Amino acid sequence: MYLKNILCPVCGYSFTGGYKKFVGTGSLLGVPYMRCGNCEKLCDTGKLAWSQMNPFGKVMEIFVALFKTFFTGLLLALLTGFAIALLFQPTHEWMQANRPRVTYAFLFIGLALSVLRTAWYYWTMIPEVERITREKKWDEWMI
Ligand SMILES: [Zn+2]
Repeated sequence: MYLKNILCPVCGYSFTGGYKKFVGTGSLLGVPYMRCGNCEKLCDTGKLAWSQMNPFGKVMEIFVALFKTFFTGLLLALLTGFAIALLFQPTHEWMQANRPRVTYAFLFIGLALSVLRTAWYYWTMIPEVERITREKKWDEWMI
């Protein structure tokens, strides 16, 4: 998560209403243009619809998605592990006996949740970006 203030290069109008929190970096997928709410000029977002990306861009997008999914999964596994440990407060002996199994279970849960999250993101994002790009409805895009 990071803070970003996206400005119109023509008039300096802020698309984000000042600094806004963004989750995730490195993804090229998005609506290529946005219309400035102030001067009505089209601004290049530096993003592309899936169908506009060249093979290298697609491979990079998949690589970034896999990388993020994996690390988000690890983080989710850790958080679930901590939450369960706090809730049930397993004894030291129980942990000694069950650690490998429990670790794999949490890893599995964390990665599965993360894969679902990524799948949902692309499942909804790709057709939406394609539609807006095809119909050139640059005003419909919200950030
Ligand atoms: Zn503007």
